[in-house]
Amino acid sequence: MKLAASLHRRFVVDDVSYVYATGSAAVLRLDDVSTSLLDAFAVEGGRNLAEWESDNADADDLVDRKATLDQMVAMGLVRPAGETAPPASKLPPMPFPLATLVLNVTNKCNLSCTYCYEYGEDRIADSTRADGTVKAPMMSAETACQSVDFLFESAAARRDVTITFFGGETLLNFGTIKAAVEHAEERARAEDKLVGFSLTTNATLLTDEVVDFLVSHRFGVNVSIDGDQKTHDRHRTFKSGRGSYEMIVPRIKGFIARNKAADGRPIGARVTLTAGMTGVCEIYAHLHGELGFDEVGFAPVTSAKENDYALSDENYWQILDEFAALAEDYVVAAAEDRPHGFSNLNDVLRELHQGINKAHPCGAGLGLLGVSTEGELGLCHRFVESGEHEVGNVATGLDEEKRREFLEAGHISTKVACHECFARPLCSGGCYHEAYVRYEDATKPNLHYCEWIRAWTDLGLRTYGRIMNANPGYMARFEDRRAAAVAAAHEPIENTAPAGTEPTL
Ligand code: SF4
Ligand code: SF4
Repeated sequence: MKLAASLHRRFVVDDVSYVYATGSAAVLRLDDVSTSLLDAFAVEGGRNLAEWESDNADADDLVDRKATLDQMVAMGLVRPAGETAPPASKLPPMPFPLATLVLNVTNKCNLSCTYCYEYGEDRIADSTRADGTVKAPMMSAETACQSVDFLFESAAARRDVTITFFGGETLLNFGTIKAAVEHAEERARAEDKLVGFSLTTNATLLTDEVVDFLVSHRFGVNVSIDGDQKTHDRHRTFKSGRGSYEMIVPRIKGFIARNKAADGRPIGARVTLTAGMTGVCEIYAHLHGELGFDEVGFAPVTSAKENDYALSDENYWQILDEFAALAEDYVVAAAEDRPHGFSNLNDVLRELHQGINKAHPCGAGLGLLGVSTEGELGLCHRFVESGEHEVGNVATGLDEEKRREFLEAGHISTKVACHECFARPLCSGGCYHEAYVRYEDATKPNLHYCEWIRAWTDLGLRTYGRIMNANPGYMARFEDRRAAAVAAAHEPIENTAPAGTEPTL
């Protein structure tokens, strides 16, 4: 029999060797024996096992070598030569129980941010009905409660469900949010389920009443804010052109203080990175250190190249350099067992530690759906009101056949270009919405950004290795799979390897 090393990524940090086995998504520490075995089987076409045994027959540690080889086979790092590595094309049992519903409670906003996708080329939603009339800009309380009922019924036996409110500016429709929360809590009590809430806001409408409500219902809140006043006000303005920083900062500070006093869930800042605004470390220092956000997440703007705020390729690499610098800060904190609020890195470390191996890039269409203001169901919040991707209505139910067709087409087994990529377990082809905007096909892999994704995954792996060397106990915080699933908007967790870095091979 011939054996060959399967797809993997090797890296050395602080003189310790690691390997990331793509097939099983396990991070393994290598010792001298496993390093030499990996070298022996990482040859074109593989190596004959009998031949290897006879070459090693005189070795004093042959028993050890064979045992290590068996472990490497068990971990999927060494496999029969010629065997295909990508996961088989199969969906979990359908209908898959829903976990998260994202309610687009309004399409309206009281700000006029220059890069907003709601008004940009990336918007694929169409708010016009077949008869030419315009759809409701605000979700009614009745539709919101109907959506809650739909979620509870579609969740079947699943105990945890999450409702996320999205916009426009979500708090413009606070009345509907309150009605939905009240109704969801009633149903949760009656059915012994746990319901969680989250919301994204621009913070302009964070009044005392709103803050009390968010804190008392333990909302997970993400505030859209781009940095200090100069940075933030460049794009996040009112229609008059006036920046919104001055107005939101006192409200944010009040909210954070009130939330901390009540021991509420972490409050996150969501930063949109644009041309000329790629100073991640400085932005982090301001938002975390000065304003007190628990977590800060960074998202590059999605935009046509012609826009003056669009990120150039050079900007993307500057962002990666900044991410690397912030990862240094993270490693220092982790070595001292202090949590760090760089949420992009927290997400990657959690996925690496849990051995996440995605068959789909995210939960869209599987555990997660979006709902439009009029109750139409979309694959996620960015696909609502896109006729092509409509998968039913909260009043009439989910179109299971269309859902299944989409999930089969978007499965990693169909993305042949990704099969030889070591970053596949975490990326799995990337965001469907971005793929649709780029290639007019949501199920295509986002091959335009592979180099960057691989470099970012590599940074995540190295950071993981450094923390495992310095303070392995730090990773325990990522071991609660239930909390992680909630945080990740109930992404499907399939084909998972055993959690964590395995003992030295
Ligand atoms: S889209 Fe690119 S980076 Fe992502 S898994 Fe596919 S080949 Fe790898
Ligand atoms: S990653 Fe893309 S497709 Fe998935 S939920 Fe987010 S926006 Fe939607």
